Amino acid sequence: MNSIEVNRKKNIAILGSTGSIGRQTLDVISEYPGLFRAWLLVANTSADLLIEQALAYRPEYVIISSEACYGKVRDALAHLPIKVLTGHSSIAEVVTHPDVDVVVTAMVGYSGLEPTISAVKAGKAIALANKETLVVAGELITRMLKTSKSVIYPVDSEHGAFYQCLVGERSSDVSKLILTASGGPFRTWSKDRIATARACDALKHPNWSMGAKITIDSASMMNKGFEMIEAKWLFGVPHNRIEIVVHPQSIVHSMVEYCDGSVKAQLGLPDMHLPIRYALGLPGRLKSDSRKLTVADYASLTFEKPDYDKFPLLGKAFEAAERGGNAACAMNAANEVAVAAFLKGQIKFYDIYNIVDKSMAAATFVPRPSYDDYVATNAEVRRYAQSLINL
Ligand code: MG
Repeated sequence: MNSIEVNRKKNIAILGSTGSIGRQTLDVISEYPGLFRAWLLVANTSADLLIEQALAYRPEYVIISSEACYGKVRDALAHLPIKVLTGHSSIAEVVTHPDVDVVVTAMVGYSGLEPTISAVKAGKAIALANKETLVVAGELITRMLKTSKSVIYPVDSEHGAFYQCLVGERSSDVSKLILTASGGPFRTWSKDRIATARACDALKHPNWSMGAKITIDSASMMNKGFEMIEAKWLFGVPHNRIEIVVHPQSIVHSMVEYCDGSVKAQLGLPDMHLPIRYALGLPGRLKSDSRKLTVADYASLTFEKPDYDKFPLLGKAFEAAERGGNAACAMNAANEVAVAAFLKGQIKFYDIYNIVDKSMAAATFVPRPSYDDYVATNAEVRRYAQSLINL
């Protein structure tokens, strides 16, 4: 046995290293310097933080998507043997490099699709944090995985929970997936009050600290709809066997019910370092001194049904899953445009739903989309959704 090969560190490519998941992935890499190396760091526009990370972690490659920021990053790292690139297309290229072992996809939204597809084609292990990739193109990616040696390990806490509950079980024994949701900051608000919510209200998530886009998606529960679709593709369980349950304490990260009536749950503190550690540590677990869950600290763990009237985007997600084809791609594109407009104060909270609803109805339906069809749907729906905002 070649001991050098056995002991080689895993090279990690982090797409979105300056975002919330990217920063926490770097924390995990720092925790296990003998096991992992940050090999590629990719950011969109956060040049200063990217430079700081590159100086600290000394990766092989750094990519800044925004060409306007390229000069700054290149100059700041010119004295080091770090290759600095720019442009979205270079991400899809560098992730296929033979030295890359794991690709952590932590970009925001649709932008994660192209590099993820490229990593699947190259047979890379993927730690998937960009759920929109599977929402948009789950069917295509699932098909591609059948002929690729690529594997997807979920980083989303709920999907990490499903994965752990499913270890050692036969898929034919699964009767349903029970997806837990915190309910977000508006769980106890009335519908009238939610209608008046501003971005700063929605950005106050009770349990999880996350980026702005996903925090708004949590407030509208679109995030949970996305996660239902993500679970459908990751675990091959149809949408009508995925139940969403609101669990405000975010301690039970999700559950699986089996044909004999038994239910398995995975518990832990609401801390994204845990699912990141699990995804990077597979097939084993990484020992950690992080704070542990003390069950006795929780006098009660509560569960309730979600309110589809207050959170109508949940229903839209089931509708998109039922329709199949490019319906979820259209839903995602409209949601991305609407959330960006809401964050800028251009539209009201329920306008996010109105824009998604109208855009899904107007989008050209493609029953078996190719990659090019997804690209076309995304562009068409974005234009349409933007026209609704500009009205
Ligand atoms: Mg989640």
